[in-house]
Amino acid sequence: MMNRIWPFLLVLSFSQPLSAQEKPDGEVSAETILALKGLQLLDQRMNAIGFRLISANAAYCDQKAATTGLLLNDVAQYADQETARFALGFDGAIGITAVAPDSPAAAAELSPGNSLLAINNKAIEDIAVDLSQSSSEEPAYRRINTINRVFRQMLAAGDVQLTISEGGVRRTVPIKPVETCTGQFQIRVSADRSATADGRLVSVSSQLAEYFLSDDEFAAVVAHELAHNLLKHRDRLDAQQVNRGFFGQLGKSAGRIRETEIEADRLSVWLMANAGYDPQAAIAFWTRYGKEHGKGIFSASTHYRWKKRVQLFEEEIAKMDAMEPVDGKYAPPLLTGSD
Ligand SMILES: [Zn+2]
Repeated sequence: MMNRIWPFLLVLSFSQPLSAQEKPDGEVSAETILALKGLQLLDQRMNAIGFRLISANAAYCDQKAATTGLLLNDVAQYADQETARFALGFDGAIGITAVAPDSPAAAAELSPGNSLLAINNKAIEDIAVDLSQSSSEEPAYRRINTINRVFRQMLAAGDVQLTISEGGVRRTVPIKPVETCTGQFQIRVSADRSATADGRLVSVSSQLAEYFLSDDEFAAVVAHELAHNLLKHRDRLDAQQVNRGFFGQLGKSAGRIRETEIEADRLSVWLMANAGYDPQAAIAFWTRYGKEHGKGIFSASTHYRWKKRVQLFEEEIAKMDAMEPVDGKYAPPLLTGSD
């Protein structure tokens, strides 16, 4: 992972005022602050969409996690730490950048800009970076990854007390996690349009996130990548010794990768519908994307043409339409094994 520096100027309008904190010393460009605020907005949308997908589909997942809907950031993740601290509204090094709506974090009245001081009375600065777990991670991310691991372990044991600072005022709040599917989400700063799933984390590039016309379209891509993780596709391809690199474009490997792509597409629209997103947005998005990027990855043999994908989405939406939903939800055959 790279430091979160924008390679270009972002043009977005912001509903949130800049924090009332004092500006850092020295030259700070308005463009840098706007770019950081823009990145935070993408993080907030991604966090909200991811939380909705994993909480609404919890009943169908075999691997579950205790989740809060909170996204933490470390100013060390940013190239210009002073400006990042100012733009994010943090007093300290670690703070909250996003709170998913209707999540335990929202119920606990936590807000973006709150600084995190302690978890279960353990001060953040006393949480030592565990190099046995983080030696392969980018140094700028080791502290935040360690804090997130410690936080997840404490959540697995039950309610957690978070000590935060809001505008210099310290308070401790209990947070009660909910059970969701396992899933972590991040925006990766990148000038290419891409999304990936590594078995645990769903990652969407900033350039792709800016291309979505709606949260429903955003959810279509997050649901596709989440589907790969929920269906353990990485483990399956590894067990089949499938080459996911360049040579994976050929022969048997291509067929096995294509199989996982078809499953991820099929499951994605069920995950979307259960979370209250319009599954038709998958059709709208992939049609638009396919028409504009037709000469790119869609010509590789591991991916099939967008018209074929649209047909798959239509088939799955027709299956849902023919079902009687239970509490507004449709049990996805690929997760319940009933297909
Ligand atoms: Zn895929």
